[in-house]
Formats: sequence, structure tokens, C-alpha cells
Amino acid sequence: MLDKKLLEILACPVCKGELLYDRGAGELVCGIDKLAYPVREGVPVMLTAEARAITSDELESLR
Ligand SMILES: [Zn+2]
Repeated sequence: MLDKKLLEILACPVCKGELLYDRGAGELVCGIDKLAYPVREGVPVMLTAEARAITSDELESLR
């Protein structure tokens, strides 16, 4: 479970935009860049090298 306040201050390192939290996958998702950043043991890993690309369908399912 990710702290809500933490989520509010986190931004995408690429576009500085807001992130969506995918509870099921445990990832933070940028809808602009279509990147999902992992959360490991409650710690968001905000590195593009660690992020995975997501499809438009995956993104739609989060909205
Ligand atoms: Zn972004």
C-alpha cells in the first residue's frame, strides 16, 4: 500500500506529470509517456531504466 501523500508529491521523471497508481500491478503509471514505474517494498522506483512500456489498453483499464 502506497502512502497517498507520497503519491501526491511523486511526478513522472520524464514529463513531470501526475502518476496513476495501479494497485493490482503495484506500479505507478504515467499516462502521457505510457510508462509504468515499479514500486518495490513500498518504495517507488522513479527511473526510466526500470520502467516498462504499457499499452493503450492497459492505460484505459486504469481510468
Ligand atoms: Zn510522463
